[in-house]
Amino acid sequence: MSEAYLLYENDPVYQMAVKQLKDAAKLLGLPDDYVEVLRHPERLIQVRIPVRMDDGSIKVFLGWRSQHNSALGPYKGGIRYREDVRPGEVVALSMWMTWKNSLAGIPYGGGKGGIRVNPKQLSPRELEELSRKYFAALAKNVGPDVDIPAPDVYTNPQTMAWYFDEYSKIAGYNAWGVVTAKPPELGGLNARVVSTGYGTALTAREAAKRWIGGVEGKTVAIQGFGNVGQYAAKYLKEWGAIIVAVSDSKGGVYNPNGLDVEKLIEVKKKTRSVINYEGEGVKKITNEELLELPVDILIPAATEDVITSKNVENIKAKVISEGANGPTTPEADEVLHKKGVIVVPDILANAGGVTMSWIEWSHNRMGCWLEDDEALERLDRIMTRNFNRVFDEWQKKYSDHPMRAAAYAIAVDRVVRAMKLRGWL
Ligand code: GLU
Repeated sequence: MSEAYLLYENDPVYQMAVKQLKDAAKLLGLPDDYVEVLRHPERLIQVRIPVRMDDGSIKVFLGWRSQHNSALGPYKGGIRYREDVRPGEVVALSMWMTWKNSLAGIPYGGGKGGIRVNPKQLSPRELEELSRKYFAALAKNVGPDVDIPAPDVYTNPQTMAWYFDEYSKIAGYNAWGVVTAKPPELGGLNARVVSTGYGTALTAREAAKRWIGGVEGKTVAIQGFGNVGQYAAKYLKEWGAIIVAVSDSKGGVYNPNGLDVEKLIEVKKKTRSVINYEGEGVKKITNEELLELPVDILIPAATEDVITSKNVENIKAKVISEGANGPTTPEADEVLHKKGVIVVPDILANAGGVTMSWIEWSHNRMGCWLEDDEALERLDRIMTRNFNRVFDEWQKKYSDHPMRAAAYAIAVDRVVRAMKLRGWL
């Protein structure tokens, strides 16, 4: 039956999410009707947001929030501002959040939202009005025990401060727990900024321990030197790895003897690209070349679909930790598995952000604020434990498949078990 009337049915990103769900269901032996329940969000909200522009005219923006599954707890996930945001994308991302949160072992379901807007074309006042009105329109459907948004693409702690304030005014109290990744003055943690990159580094460290004898003295290449790449580099270096190559959208640099991470961060900040990093023995490379370098550990932290059937045979790393969302295609994932490469899947390797969100939220709710070093220690403990649990179960039950298949199976199974216990299935 064609279901093109659904807002999200034909979206390619949504279709990919459904395929992954179906694969996991097959591995778990789940019946088709379970898949039918799980492939739809529990609720998809669309709002129209009229904004009084600086020139006096009214412009209407569209926004969505997809609340995919709440079996394990309140919906949780970011809100993105981008010109090409679509219901299908938001629904798919909310489904991924359900799996990510389930796998992370935190008491949350999955949600994701977005506004179809290019934030760079709005003045700060217009952006504030847009953000406040969007959240006011969602106010009845979010809340510290209902749905807890956070930043995503082109949203940040300031956006969260506006959401928090708008909701608190409507609720009549300071609702600290309604959003996470708030500014530290409003109950947020500075550590939230480093947490995704830190988490990617942690999973790389743990994978290296189980696969190649640890990170110390091992060489690392990092594609993408934004927030995730920079902090992954910083922490892996701290733990004794040698960062030999990094890149950004303009290209990369390589030195088999190692690069100075502090200097790289400075060069990136000053000149906007790592390609301006200079030094003895430093070679310029392309993003494609970076992926094929003879290194022990590879961190794709830029965009999706970079490790594909075209280059997978040339990949030499033994450990890959996916800082980005979807950097490895399913075909390449299979090949890497057969070659004996461990690929820590994105839903595990980039869960540091949402896990830190949970640390922030749970302390907000107790009315006590954590110090950053304590928060990072907790993140380390939680992610190390989670990685090793998934790794062990993969080896025990699903070792014929890539680690990703195991991660999805474990995540979906937890949600299904909770739904069954609650009588939803
Ligand atoms: N947007 C981030 C993610 O996709 C963080 C979500 C959150 O902290 O709720 O994982």
